[in-house]
Amino acid sequence: MILSPGFIDLHCHLRDPGFEHKETVQSGSAAAAAGGFTTVCAMPNTSPVIDNTGSLKILQQAISEDALIRVLPIAAITKGQQGQALVDFQGLLKQGVVAFSDDGNTLEDDHLMSQALLYSKEFSFPIISHAESTKFTTNGQMNAGPLSFALGLEGRPSFAEEIVVARDISLASHIGGHLHIAHVSSLGAVELIRTAKNKGVHVTSEVTPHHVTLTERAVCHDLTTGSISKDFIPNIYNANAKVAPPLRSPKDVAALIDAVEDETIDVFATDHAPHSYEDKNTTFQSAAFGISALETALSSLLLLVSQNKISLKTVIKKLTQDPAKILNVPLGTLSTGSIADIAVFNPDQSWRVSPESLYSKGKNTPWLGKTMLGKVVLTIANGEIVYQKK
Ligand SMILES: [Zn+2]
Repeated sequence: MILSPGFIDLHCHLRDPGFEHKETVQSGSAAAAAGGFTTVCAMPNTSPVIDNTGSLKILQQAISEDALIRVLPIAAITKGQQGQALVDFQGLLKQGVVAFSDDGNTLEDDHLMSQALLYSKEFSFPIISHAESTKFTTNGQMNAGPLSFALGLEGRPSFAEEIVVARDISLASHIGGHLHIAHVSSLGAVELIRTAKNKGVHVTSEVTPHHVTLTERAVCHDLTTGSISKDFIPNIYNANAKVAPPLRSPKDVAALIDAVEDETIDVFATDHAPHSYEDKNTTFQSAAFGISALETALSSLLLLVSQNKISLKTVIKKLTQDPAKILNVPLGTLSTGSIADIAVFNPDQSWRVSPESLYSKGKNTPWLGKTMLGKVVLTIANGEIVYQKK
């Protein structure tokens, strides 16, 4: 068994309030606990959007009633995440918001982004950027490249990510503030962040477990080894691998792994994005974007450890100590006197990812039906057992 500080997730979607058929604070925090997480940050693209102290109170009420673990709210940068007018940063910070993000949407307005960074500088909080230029992603379904062409799907090019990352870094280098790039997916974005860090720009970044373990090929079912009977017309598309930004090429994946090792990428964050069965089991074009990831995060990262691509120490550090640093909270360590947030896992235990095995309401994971190695057996949050493997 390995005993680790409880994991901290900077980026998850709990869908509560407003989309309780996809996830709730209760089901999402149970999934987090089962995945070894003791702190998660909830993204604000709910209904209502968390963009004022009123809607924040609704979320905080649900957290105080239903959360098994610590749930920290992230508020929107702009009202309704519409990219038109900034929220009241100071008022929301006073009520317990830890960061701001229009995640799901890209803040296209350069001037508003610059103003948000000014507030970030003034009040010391991260601005989390979902960096995908909508000009190039409006109808995009997967990574743009030979495979999207072959499948007849419109692509989301990696430069759509790079141009927004470049803009954000440019603004942060002139204005200051703390810029955090969410779910980095491309080689080009990695290079921009690496250069910016070397120049001393205050930029941090995250990568999801799926972007470092899967390539764009995951959007196709493996018809040779899958359980699909020959008598059926197979659906070759796997909408459970449809995510924004998209899973990319092997070159991008290799660059992301290198960036984790050389600290260009600071943390692993799940971007847990649960969806209902109906949201995903439709045509690829109309399927929702997102992967349910809290419960497979550790196992998928351990896959990289078993392939000697990253060390176990790096996995643990980037799930605990490093996200705590970005949030500037006294969590993520096992030092004397620290809060008892603990995860115990067996790296050698295998388990099969099935709808029944997941606490999340979102069964939308490309690992569905696969056997993975590494299972959390005990999670303690704030001194209380919140998950124990049966
Ligand atoms: Zn996002």
